[in-house]
Amino acid sequence: MYDCIVVGAGIAGSVAARKIAEKGKKVLIIEKRNHIAGNCYDCPDENNILIHLYGPHIFHTNVERVYEFFSRFTDWYDFRHKVVANVHGELIPVPFNLNTLRKVYGEEEGGRIADKLIAEYGYGSRVPIMKLRENKDESIRKIADYVYENIFLRYTMKQWGQTPDQISPDVTARVPIVISEDDGYFADKYQGLPKNGFTPMIEKMLDHENIKVRLSTDCKEVLSFKDGNVFFEDMPYSGYVIYTGAIDELFGLKYGRLPYRSLDFKFEHYDKDDFQGHSVVNYTVSEDYTRITEFKHLTGQKDGNGTTIVKEYPFAYTGKEGEIPYYSIANDENNALYAKYRDEAEKYPNLKLLGRLAEYRYYNIDAIADKAIDMAESIS
Ligand code: FAD
Ligand code: UDP
Repeated sequence: MYDCIVVGAGIAGSVAARKIAEKGKKVLIIEKRNHIAGNCYDCPDENNILIHLYGPHIFHTNVERVYEFFSRFTDWYDFRHKVVANVHGELIPVPFNLNTLRKVYGEEEGGRIADKLIAEYGYGSRVPIMKLRENKDESIRKIADYVYENIFLRYTMKQWGQTPDQISPDVTARVPIVISEDDGYFADKYQGLPKNGFTPMIEKMLDHENIKVRLSTDCKEVLSFKDGNVFFEDMPYSGYVIYTGAIDELFGLKYGRLPYRSLDFKFEHYDKDDFQGHSVVNYTVSEDYTRITEFKHLTGQKDGNGTTIVKEYPFAYTGKEGEIPYYSIANDENNALYAKYRDEAEKYPNLKLLGRLAEYRYYNIDAIADKAIDMAESIS
């Protein structure tokens, strides 16, 4: 028998499973897809180019124990992620930083405003766009308006179907205005990609005598929840269940469907060495897609014929067969609906909710791994 059943073999489920297995407990992972690694799944395409099937993923963290934990299962391709935005045909660095400022406004005016920004916020600080827009100084507000109009407005409309003012400020705060010349997308100490890919890293993580993985199995086929009791293959089950799937689906959508944004990934292959010269180009004032990723620039892959790119087209998730819920949409109404499902889950003392879907929260890889380690440690 299993001491713990983990639903989902993404980062959340895999990290938790490994940590629990190392405590000498038997773990069963149930995954509905035919592969492990969740949305971090990567694989070679038909041209032997390593692609990320569910969108580009870059590992970045300041959390030592997460970096150390992952490093047990992979070496790293050292990579500092940089993004440019295509603004009316010109490529400018994102996040908007002092270099971008001088590029857009020229050395003289740009330099003057840079001095003001440094005096106001301090060199090296990172200021959310919605905060910058509230500044009393007219020339700073002019910059804020430029960035809002040219970097955030259209991209956010595409990604969320709403303007930056309408969505949670935490979302746009992920890409602040950087008061320095640092043009990295992330500020974390550790940044990179698993040398051979995320999938081999997770494969190694799950390679443990106490872990069994059952793929292509929806947990509803084997697990049921009734009046505070859990059943596994129709028998009462008293071990832990760590659930990393969508919480509304676990309870048959009984309070209604939680809203999500989804993405349609369109992959294209070109018989040339280089498509765009950058790993990611954001389209912030034009096109229906938000960004184009060119995988070779992300993974450092030198072999393989030609180059493969992916364009991301956001849309509202409806729950139709084949659609994937990627982004929870935080607002009062949705959070209240989520709380109903969370209360329902609390009727089952050994049921633990973990991950982007189960917690209906925007987590990076490192944050959910950190949470998974905590959860595993709390299980006796
Ligand atoms: P998931 O990866 O979604 O795993 C959940 C698993 O549960 C899935 O495999 C699913 O199939 C399975 N499952 C669901 N329901 C059931 C069921 N009923 N039965 C059985 N199995 C089930 N983070 C970063 O740190 N860096 C990045 O660069 C980055 N880029 C991103 C780009 C995109 C486009 C997106 C959408 C996210 C990105 N993230 C990034 C976030 C990252 O994807 C998440 O932090 C991480 O994947 C969360 O892992 P998880 O295990 O919670 O969820
Ligand atoms: N964003 C934007 N323009 C950009 C980059 C980001 O408007 O060029 C906004 C957009 O609302 C996005 C949010 O900032 O959803 C967070 O961006 P991030 O790159 O962190 O999103 P991720 O792809 O990681 O979810």
